[in-house]
Amino acid sequence: MSRKRKLKKHGKFKIFPLIGFILCLLLYFIQEHTDIVNTMWGHSEIISSSEQESTEQASSSIEKEVTAEGEMKVTFIDIGQGDATLIQTEEQCMLIDTGSSSEKEALLTVLDSCQVTYIDFLVLTHPDEDHIGNGNTIMETYSVGAVLYPEVESDTKAWSITLNAINNSDAVVEHPMEGDIYYIGDAVAEIITPNTITDTTTKNNASIGMKLTHGSKSFILCGDAEEEAENKMVSANIYLEADVLKCSHHGSATATTQAFLDRINPVYAIISCGANNKYGHPHAEVLARLEDDDVQIYRTDLQGSITAISDGNNIRISSESNKEEN
Ligand SMILES: [Zn+2]
Repeated sequence: MSRKRKLKKHGKFKIFPLIGFILCLLLYFIQEHTDIVNTMWGHSEIISSSEQESTEQASSSIEKEVTAEGEMKVTFIDIGQGDATLIQTEEQCMLIDTGSSSEKEALLTVLDSCQVTYIDFLVLTHPDEDHIGNGNTIMETYSVGAVLYPEVESDTKAWSITLNAINNSDAVVEHPMEGDIYYIGDAVAEIITPNTITDTTTKNNASIGMKLTHGSKSFILCGDAEEEAENKMVSANIYLEADVLKCSHHGSATATTQAFLDRINPVYAIISCGANNKYGHPHAEVLARLEDDDVQIYRTDLQGSITAISDGNNIRISSESNKEEN
């Protein structure tokens, strides 16, 4: 069974019986135009609000089934020791990281169950295998509008395979900088990665980080960013307060510093890590910091994939299962 789902976004329009054939043609023309612009630039930063309205009017019935009207769904995929987070709105989706190649089937199964047919944005936070291991699979299985990754050097085989797959695709490539804005339907992703990272021993601190906002609800997602990046985000003039924090670096004590936590002041924390992983993630210090601050903790190693749904005013969180710790 082929997994090829090279579906294009073109050709989506509604029939309005009373408005008639001419209006249908007009809507179709507007949608074609909007999609061409969107694909060229990889994000809708340059699309005016009136053009965005046209996109919303013309969104397909398939996409509408993915999330309820006006909702944003964020799925923290149980990908073992790694990261993969899927953000879906009615109109668009963003996949942040792909997990390790050993977890390929787990990733594709969740993307299938979330009815993903086209990926508007693939974000590869940094070149570590536990984040980009299925980058080539994603590029070869789906049509991808834009790929975002930081401009850092890496000589690993996994990264060269990923870059090769990106280069062989039609996707737009971007290296986002602090302050850049991407629209995922009616959700807004603001890049908060500091531009002044000096850490060259690991790529973790160069991880693409973002504040994802949907209505009055927001999430902080920063890949494997550690203390250096967190300190710079605290020092920068960024409004970090958010409802949900995905703890960086799988709950390592080198991240989720107290100063960063204080600024975010989250209600919920998500930790993505493998059961009984060799690094001991999440570290006890991080769990203690979260518990001391009365943050409700969700863990993929214990609860499987975790879904947070925002309606713009409230967030409801559910988990796939309650795995027993062994
Ligand atoms: Zn990692």
